[in-house]
Amino acid sequence: MITAKYDVIVVGAGHAGCEAAAAAARMGSKVLLVTMNMNTIAQMSCNPAMGGVAKGQIVREIDALGGQSGIITDKTMIQFRMLNMSKGPAMWSPRAQSDRMRFAEEWRMNLEQTANIDFWQEMVTSLLVEKGKAVGIKTALGIEFKSEAVVLTNGTFLNGIIHIGEKQFGGGRAAERAATGITEQLISIGFEAGRMKTGTPPRVDGRSLDYSRMEEQKGDENPSKFSYTKTKSLQEQRSCYITYTSSETHEILKTGFEKSPMFQGRIQGLGPRYCPSIEDKINRFADKDRHQIFVEPEGRSTVEIYVNGFSSSLPEDVQFKALRSIAGFENAKMFRPGYAIEYDFFPPTQLNLTLETKLVENLYFAGQINGTTGYEEAACQGLMAGINAHNKIHEKDSFILKRSEAYIGVLIDDLVNKGTEEPYRMFTSRAEHRILLRQDNADIRLTKKGYDLGLASQERLDQVNRKISETQEIIDYLNNKSVEPAEINAILQRLNSAPITEKAKAGNLIKRPNVDINHIMEAVPVAKTYLSKYLPDSIEQASIAVKYASYIDKEHQMASRIEELENYIIKERLDYKNMSALSKEAREKLLKINPETIGQASRISGVSPADISILMVYLGK
Ligand code: FAD
Repeated sequence: MITAKYDVIVVGAGHAGCEAAAAAARMGSKVLLVTMNMNTIAQMSCNPAMGGVAKGQIVREIDALGGQSGIITDKTMIQFRMLNMSKGPAMWSPRAQSDRMRFAEEWRMNLEQTANIDFWQEMVTSLLVEKGKAVGIKTALGIEFKSEAVVLTNGTFLNGIIHIGEKQFGGGRAAERAATGITEQLISIGFEAGRMKTGTPPRVDGRSLDYSRMEEQKGDENPSKFSYTKTKSLQEQRSCYITYTSSETHEILKTGFEKSPMFQGRIQGLGPRYCPSIEDKINRFADKDRHQIFVEPEGRSTVEIYVNGFSSSLPEDVQFKALRSIAGFENAKMFRPGYAIEYDFFPPTQLNLTLETKLVENLYFAGQINGTTGYEEAACQGLMAGINAHNKIHEKDSFILKRSEAYIGVLIDDLVNKGTEEPYRMFTSRAEHRILLRQDNADIRLTKKGYDLGLASQERLDQVNRKISETQEIIDYLNNKSVEPAEINAILQRLNSAPITEKAKAGNLIKRPNVDINHIMEAVPVAKTYLSKYLPDSIEQASIAVKYASYIDKEHQMASRIEELENYIIKERLDYKNMSALSKEAREKLLKINPETIGQASRISGVSPADISILMVYLGK
């Protein structure tokens, strides 16, 4: 029986809880990780994949700060692809197909090997709150654990209800109980709660599929990885496959509509618009006669297959019949039906930028409980909540990332200031400075911060410092190195780029659309020899910096202009209610969110630039 008092108690061992516990413990806090089922630590509830567009950038940021999700992914992935390589580097996004069981196992081993973490398997039913401060938790068995801070990461479990056709039952995830008690207590304290929903597709037996009727999708020839640490590169990748639904599939699915929990109004929570169920897709896009299905292995040593794109909560017999009408699925055997789940969340405008709640001191929320969706979104919040809980109780500064520093900063700023009506997922379009927030430079942006926090090692810092200095040397070299027409014109012709008539700087040539640093190395053997002493990462970084220099400079200028406003701190609580010159909506939102800076106020939806000017006048600016 564990009786000691803890620094930080983390409730829930999903993606948010694991990162929160690991961060706080590695920074030196004594941590208790309480979760309902220790066999499902870091369970991937839905797709067995990490990363993807904008999400891959988040995993690299987590890694650069010293979080663990990137390392775990590298150790357990079975396929790696860098998405969007035909676009600019701001869009390049790493994505891994993970081995679901190995991912969970590796996280559990990682946590067990982290000093300072104790475990307790049970449902937490309430928080211990004294004088407006979280001081521990109480479990279903009535056991109380005391702590200085509590991080709640309950995911989809709070009053979760699972729907399959007309059947509905309590559950936090397939085959797991829902969690009760916490929502009701938080509401009684004054918190506002809402309902959201998400869904997952059926899983099938890979041995029953005919892959010859599908398109193979291989991993990258030279797979990269997520972590900047020395994790091993991926060997022996597994392929995914692509197939399509047909009009026959759609007709079969329609036979289940009258029993659909979504169409019949039994599900009230709002789901993610960008991740619709198959029934939603055929309903909303009735003119489309087929939808793409990604056939993804769940692991290296299992035959189970995830049917990506076929999320459904229709009756299981309808799901089964419809599956069998898909090319390659004619003899498919189903392992588990798809389902939808509704759960409680807490509108994140009730949080400070540290993820501490405004109502209860030393209480932090991270992950799906804040209205987000996705492992990456959850993991980064867990990391930030773990860091901030540790810092707060050790009287250290808050750790907040700006929108111009990290996708993590964009995510938390959006949540806290704008809130979210539907499950929030990260997109590159949410980041106004996405040219600065690339997957290739997350280490340059964030490793020093991770090091200062005590999370990233000296070795990592040395490595990134080497990359920074090498990158600058290469940039200088490229901007000074002259290339003769005779050296490069044949290559330019091959690339459909205009020939040069007199010598040109390598840096200027790289700025041309089809030309990159490899062409310079091909044209000028001495450049190749010179550059061979540098790390491939430094060469890539310099190449991007030179090619996109003007865009990057413009973006930096924009970010610092915004920062001037950003940094203007609103010291005292202002009497927004009586600022009659403000619009009614601005008054209400400012009162509710109580922004810490002018920059934060300016991003609240409903607060216009005119309201900000008025606010500045009130502040004497
Ligand atoms: P979770 O991973 O849900 O983990 C919560 C943890 O808290 C669990 O370990 C649970 O046991 C524990 N817990 C909960 N309450 C208590 C309590 N009271 N006491 C003790 N322990 C507790 N994301 C996508 O990006 N795309 C999708 O298509 C998608 N579909 C999904 C479909 C389904 C059916 C589900 C369930 C989730 C889906 N998700 C999807 C969401 C994704 O799984 C989550 O965003 C992510 O797992 C959230 O991480 P988390 O750490 O916040 O919570």
